[in-house]
Amino acid sequence: EASKPLNFIEHIVEEDLKNGFSRADLRFRFPPEPNGYLHIGHASSICLNFGLGLRYNAPVNLRFDDTNPAKEEQEYVDAIKRDVAWLGFEWDKKCYASDYFQQLYDWAVQLIKDGKAYVDSQSSEEMATQKGTPNAPGTESPYRNRTVEENLDLFESMKCGDFEEGTHVLRAKIDMASSNMLMRDPILYRVLHKAHHRTNTDWCIYPMYDWTHGESDYIEQVSHSLCTLEFAMHRELYDWCLDQVVEEGKIRPKQREFARRNLSHTVVSKRKLLKLVEEGIVTGWDDPRMPTISGLRRRGYTPESIRNFADTIGIAKRDNLIDVSLLEFHVREHLNKIAPRAMAVLDPLKVVIINYPEGETEWLDAENNPEDVSAGSRKVPFSQTLYIEKADFKEEANKKFFRLKLGGEVRLKNGYIIKAESCTKDTDGNITEVQCTYDSKSKSGSGTNESLRKVKGTLHWVSIEHALEAEVRLYDRLFIDESPDTHKDKDFMDFINPNSLEVITGYLEPSLQDTAIGDRVQFQRLGYFCVDPDSTSKKLVFNRTVGLRDSWAK
Ligand code: ATP
Ligand code: MG
Ligand code: MG
Repeated sequence: EASKPLNFIEHIVEEDLKNGFSRADLRFRFPPEPNGYLHIGHASSICLNFGLGLRYNAPVNLRFDDTNPAKEEQEYVDAIKRDVAWLGFEWDKKCYASDYFQQLYDWAVQLIKDGKAYVDSQSSEEMATQKGTPNAPGTESPYRNRTVEENLDLFESMKCGDFEEGTHVLRAKIDMASSNMLMRDPILYRVLHKAHHRTNTDWCIYPMYDWTHGESDYIEQVSHSLCTLEFAMHRELYDWCLDQVVEEGKIRPKQREFARRNLSHTVVSKRKLLKLVEEGIVTGWDDPRMPTISGLRRRGYTPESIRNFADTIGIAKRDNLIDVSLLEFHVREHLNKIAPRAMAVLDPLKVVIINYPEGETEWLDAENNPEDVSAGSRKVPFSQTLYIEKADFKEEANKKFFRLKLGGEVRLKNGYIIKAESCTKDTDGNITEVQCTYDSKSKSGSGTNESLRKVKGTLHWVSIEHALEAEVRLYDRLFIDESPDTHKDKDFMDFINPNSLEVITGYLEPSLQDTAIGDRVQFQRLGYFCVDPDSTSKKLVFNRTVGLRDSWAK
């Protein structure tokens, strides 16, 4: 970690250290709201915060920002913990804003006593009309000058459940003429008769984001509170809220902002991702087409590839769009090193080796990973009838076609050189079988002159009688547009790719029978695949993680 170049947030920390801030007082947090699953945008924030923890050997809290029971659920808490841990990070404390509800309430009571907060009994529409515009001051609420006693009384009644939702709110009394609209008497509490996933029905008033976030940072003594740019305008209010509670000798948290990361051909917003789930566009939050951490995991991504991606794009000061091909590059690069190789045919064409003994099986040696000698080797069965890919045979082709054509030779990977002699077609003219001869002395690795003979093409193949049939799920981008949620007059749902999933039957070499859920493998010449949780020993299911090359070159 220490060897990586500093990002601009780390420069801010360095500056603070230079100015006397104690290294031992550094503390960070990652503060997700448990209202959905984490997505690739969150990975940037996770890598930033936990990366700071590693660089400065400082604790990092995982804090659930759980102040809106209408949208939050235990399922999301569990998924978030699983995903952060899977990415390879260890939090110091697991915290919940809901643990601070009593403290936040007590502080709010103090605000009222200090004349800095009041209960407003107008409708939200009325309050909205009084907000003013950035150029014109707002109008003060007719309830702004309620007495402390009246405010304490009403706030207590709000807490006790005496009021309906929307009838009363607690507002900070700041400045209705502030040039920062957020400072125009922001709402601190609202009535919400909803059970909370942790505090159940203990509370029927819930604190707003601004009142919660800085105070939670303060309670946890977070030194640097990093959030995305949309909170830049909130910083003034964050500081105001801290001013009300910070005591001598305690760490005063510092909010700093960095840019959100957007990924091309998808949406990174829990609200929008939830819509895809609810409308059945995908099978769930962990659908392998989703840009969620759990979707990427199911797709076959490794934690390392996601961390490398986040480190490569780094932290920016302006919002921007990262092409998904960069994410794909990183998983391809990692899987190339670690994924064992295997042969599978996804679009089969039958090949009969007419001079090979019928009924015989030979077990050929096959290297597991040319990038990793320690990965060893395995045996693959060879017999008279094989499958190759349809696209690997043509009756006639020019010199640039290095695959099989009539009268031409290719090497079968780990096996023999074969020559196409003739082919059979159905009544529509589709090729149904290719008859070949093989050179019996050309076996790979046998050391004969024939085995060393160079032929232009090498094909993958499987022996039909030994092949495993598997369901193979081929994924394409979920959206046909680069940034589906940035169009003024169109909804992101208008850009869904109707062909983002293709399910086919693949024919696999039998060694793959022993794979377990989550195992990753390279199907040679085809791409990286992993075993889906839907897989059983009776029916294997593979997901294509990514092709071998970027087929989306622009
Ligand atoms: P969403 O719109 O998806 O709900 P959010 O910002 O509301 O995103 P939170 O759960 O509040 O989601 O996010 C936790 C942390 O992750 C916050 O600090 C937030 O700023 C950061 N974060 C969320 N999305 C991104 C993103 N696309 N890029 C970088 N950081 C992000
Ligand atoms: Mg948020
Ligand atoms: Mg959100």
